[in-house]
Amino acid sequence: MKQNIKKVIEVGINQETDSWLAGKIKLVNIISLANFIFILWMILFDLFINKNHYLSIVLLGISFIMLIPYYLNYKKRYIASRLVFLSFAYFCICFLAVIFGKEFYFQYYLVPGVGMSLIFFRDEIGNKKWLFTLAGVPLWALLEFWFANYPAFIILDGKYVSAISYFSSFLIFVTAILMFGTFTHESDNQLKNISKMNKKFKQLANIDPLTNLYNRRFVDQQLNYLFDLAKNQNGFLGFVIFDIDFFKKVNDTYGHDAGDKVLQMIAKLADENFRETDLVGRIGGEEFCIVFTNTNKENVLKIVERFRKEIEEQVVQYEEKDIKVTSSFGISYFSNNLNSCEELFKNADTALYEAKRSGRNRIYEYKKDL
Ligand code: GH3
Ligand code: MG
Ligand code: MG
Repeated sequence: MKQNIKKVIEVGINQETDSWLAGKIKLVNIISLANFIFILWMILFDLFINKNHYLSIVLLGISFIMLIPYYLNYKKRYIASRLVFLSFAYFCICFLAVIFGKEFYFQYYLVPGVGMSLIFFRDEIGNKKWLFTLAGVPLWALLEFWFANYPAFIILDGKYVSAISYFSSFLIFVTAILMFGTFTHESDNQLKNISKMNKKFKQLANIDPLTNLYNRRFVDQQLNYLFDLAKNQNGFLGFVIFDIDFFKKVNDTYGHDAGDKVLQMIAKLADENFRETDLVGRIGGEEFCIVFTNTNKENVLKIVERFRKEIEEQVVQYEEKDIKVTSSFGISYFSNNLNSCEELFKNADTALYEAKRSGRNRIYEYKKDL
């Protein structure tokens, strides 16, 4: 049932239709069909409560005209469909209003009509959309003027006139709700899609695919930002670079794939060891970094030491061989006499070099005289 309704509403849409256009096609289809069905109800109502059936005859004609836009969508004549829908809608409203008089409130149908023209032609017609929008205003004024000076052409007898007029007001209300509901739903979907895509693009641009850690580009960008923040607020900023010891040997002995597996193990360990606020990145082949904020030197040293030990103890299995690695760490801290985050970077690198030189598998903090 739900599937069938969907099929009927989505007539004219296929997989290549872009989602914005698809939304508009759906909107016309829904309103086209809804109007057809509502008008049929109105006819039924009229048949029951009135003695003569002028209203029914006019409405029957209009109800079939309402199906033309639906047919045009089916034929993939999308713009024509909307143009016909709006023109007929305007024409029918005026026609109904004039021949049946003010008490049916048909002129208020122009309100959703105006809104609809705004929505329908946003992209295709650009600024000219305002012309369509404004067309509703003089029409409405004309109808109000008409009622003040001329009586209705057809005056329905019976005491149920007010019931029909309430019913027609109800239809106007439902049409407006339906229209804005569908439109809001479509544009919400559109926004959700866009934000999902943005997130994905951002991820692709900032994440290293092998390890799922942040890449050099993102680390540089964040470090710059955090450096300025530390400078302005005199906050804590610790920067750690680490590099796997004798990694070339791992590649040479076990192959490049084994090396990659080791890199992934390090990334996983880092993920488990550091808090979400600690920024972990892969800044080179087998070089990584961690940016610490909101803590202090002793803590950084403690956490990094624990991490160093964990790497040392970890065993990576590759084709039934056990691979073990160690790594060396260099740490630098923000201080007010640093001029840029490049200096912070360079200091950590100097400390790392010192850690390598003095035997590897150890941590060095940058001191001025290194
Ligand atoms: P040390 O750092 O202890 O001085 O020695 P090392 O052997 O690790 O030194 P070096 O930095 O010169 O070697 C890095 C090696 O890392 C070179 C390269 O083959 C390897 N490498 C770089 N990127 C990747 C990668 O994405 N995957 C694999 N498997 N290996 C990589
Ligand atoms: Mg290296
Ligand atoms: Mg290395």
